[in-house]
Amino acid sequence: MDAHNGFMKRSYLFALIGLLLGTGAPIGALILLWLFPHPALQIPYFIEEEWKDHVFFFTYMLVGTSSVFTLFGFWIGQDHDKVIRHNRRLTDQAQTDPLTGLGNHRYLHKAFSIEHERHRVNHQPLSCLMMDLDHFKRVNDSYGHPFGDYVLQHFAKIVQESIRQGDIATRYGGEEFFCILPNCDNVEALQVADRIRRRTEKYHFVHEGRRAKVTVSLGCVTSHRSSKETYSHLIKTTDKSLYAAKHKGRNRVVQGRL
Ligand code: GH3
Ligand code: MG
Ligand code: MG
Repeated sequence: MDAHNGFMKRSYLFALIGLLLGTGAPIGALILLWLFPHPALQIPYFIEEEWKDHVFFFTYMLVGTSSVFTLFGFWIGQDHDKVIRHNRRLTDQAQTDPLTGLGNHRYLHKAFSIEHERHRVNHQPLSCLMMDLDHFKRVNDSYGHPFGDYVLQHFAKIVQESIRQGDIATRYGGEEFFCILPNCDNVEALQVADRIRRRTEKYHFVHEGRRAKVTVSLGCVTSHRSSKETYSHLIKTTDKSLYAAKHKGRNRVVQGRL
């Protein structure tokens, strides 16, 4: 079985079909004889004679045909498997940010629609965090773009190390990141947000002999009830909270209300 999606690999499936096709005719005849034991359907004498006289030929036909069909099915199936693997890689690439390895904007929308639906059904709280590195333009201007890239990569690690397994961290775009925290209430969400803020503030970003400190502002929103708002509305409200955090002086968390 293919562990990735629970489907049998095409090479095994087609080989099995080949085997069934190869052995299908003699097995089918036996099944007919078993189902309808009518004298008219009994193996006629001359067939028995035929089998006895040409046992090597008939054995060769049975084994040879089914083997060839099986191998042919396996060979065709391998090509299908290659195409499936390739398509899956393309899908992963299209949803992954190459710099940080996190899911990208497209992935966020896909994951959010799934998590939001789950939240509406199971009535568990769902929290969102939106983060934006402070004065990041200055970091690029002072230390260079490669240093900025390094900060983004390392910040992504700080975020991933600060959330639970099952939480979803994505790069929203540029120096903005977004986390979906399923089954997480407003108190826990605030703790996670402040953990990310403190860890970033404390961290010394060192790359190619240069060292800098960076801070981050965060917006945080929790949907408690199985509410009617769409996930796009949740994103908008979280964005507004982030904007408020910037407005209040940066390097802080602002918790918004729906
Ligand atoms: P604020 O505190 O208001 O967020 O200020 P800011 O400077 O962080 O915001 P602004 O939107 O003015 O600048 C964002 C900067 O982020 C500008 C852009 O060059 C930089 N940036 C976006 N994507 C990347 C990237 O992939 N790599 C690097 N090195 N920089 C990036
Ligand atoms: Mg920004
Ligand atoms: Mg910024």
